[in-house]
Amino acid sequence: MASPLAFETDSTWYESRADRPPSGETLNREVETETCIVGAGLAGLYLARELAERKREAVVIEARRVGLGASGRHGGFCGPGWACEGEKIENRVGLEKAKTFFNLSLEGFQMVREVLESAKAPMTPGILHPSTYNNPHGLQKDLERMAQVYRYELDYMKTDAVRNVLDTEKYYQALRDPRAFHFDALELCLILAEILKSAGVPVYENSSMTEFHKTGTGWVLKTGQGSVRCRNLVFCCGGYGGKEFRKLRRAFLPITTYIIVTPPMGEPLKQCIRTSDGVSDERRAGNYYRIVDGDRLLWGGDITAFGGLSLEWRTSRALCSGIRLSENAAWRSMAGIPFQVLKPPETGILFPPYFFP
Ligand SMILES: Cc1cc2nc3c(=O)[nH]c(=O)nc-3n(C[C@H](O)[C@H](O)[C@H](O)COP(=O)(O)OP(=O)(O)OC[C@H]3O[C@@H](n4cnc5c(N)ncnc54)[C@H](O)[C@@H]3O)c2cc1C
Repeated sequence: MASPLAFETDSTWYESRADRPPSGETLNREVETETCIVGAGLAGLYLARELAERKREAVVIEARRVGLGASGRHGGFCGPGWACEGEKIENRVGLEKAKTFFNLSLEGFQMVREVLESAKAPMTPGILHPSTYNNPHGLQKDLERMAQVYRYELDYMKTDAVRNVLDTEKYYQALRDPRAFHFDALELCLILAEILKSAGVPVYENSSMTEFHKTGTGWVLKTGQGSVRCRNLVFCCGGYGGKEFRKLRRAFLPITTYIIVTPPMGEPLKQCIRTSDGVSDERRAGNYYRIVDGDRLLWGGDITAFGGLSLEWRTSRALCSGIRLSENAAWRSMAGIPFQVLKPPETGILFPPYFFP
């Protein structure tokens, strides 16, 4: 039996907006193919699309539904680069390889854009990276470095300009990436599934891989009611897989994080955040947020590979981070709303459909 997805839920904000088709076919017979991809998140769906474009035969096996893992409920912030700072990558692998890595990330960025554009799906451009301390020279240096070394142009914003759009004195200067954008995470997965359908690539839903073994010419993989014989077997299971991955499971490092979307908050929110840009206030594991649906706040952060997996643990991390976000940003117009109300007892009442750490 495949392990259940951690906190699997179909009642997310994304699901409430999505035009999800009825459940796809379940694998209930033996099929033979060149490549079997396990997991219908972004990794699995994009790989299947790449193979289809090259006219290579493939099937996708998904334990639950397309995009029900991280890919259909993440933050939707999309820009080139890596979570690790550029300088650290350069120190580790050298400048030339660091450039190759950056170009690879640009390619991925472009692939996301391309698929969304093909379906005319909305992308809201602009992601701001404000500094939480006065650092004009550091940011200017980063800006020049990005332009000269990586040939990637960013905009520089002075403190006044930042505070003009973000009503807080906790932020100073910012770098703005005008090409980075925000999109609907689940929508991208469903578009990819539609592309695969049109290309004749089967995506079996509710078909958990329960075991796999090697044969003379490839692999056999079993699900509850069917099996796949293939030459290549590719696992795209994020951090979700369980015992069915045998020794491979030991190589997984599941990351714990969350996204919260608040209920509509009306004018006060719009006075605090006077931009449609996304905001990401630290390079890694900081706060990132954006207004969605006109007056809801989507925010996430606090990425960690350490810590328990209990719902209570995640909830308290998310709440603490919400409170920290309000302290860090200290919104003037809002006087602490909505985070003052984000105390554990009220959580269930405030955010029943939308709270999903
Ligand atoms: C809260 C949160 C916010 C994030 N925000 C951002 C962001 O703003 N920008 C960004 O770029 N990235 C973000 N990320 C990261 C991004 O979501 C992930 O890197 C990406 O979605 C991983 O895709 P994946 O296909 O590898 O895994 P997943 O989307 O997790 O897909 C794995 C799939 O494998 C399936 N599976 C597992 N085991 C089996 C089995 N035995 N048989 C069959 N199927 C199986 C699962 O059901 C699942 O559908 C965020 C992640 C999280 C959790």
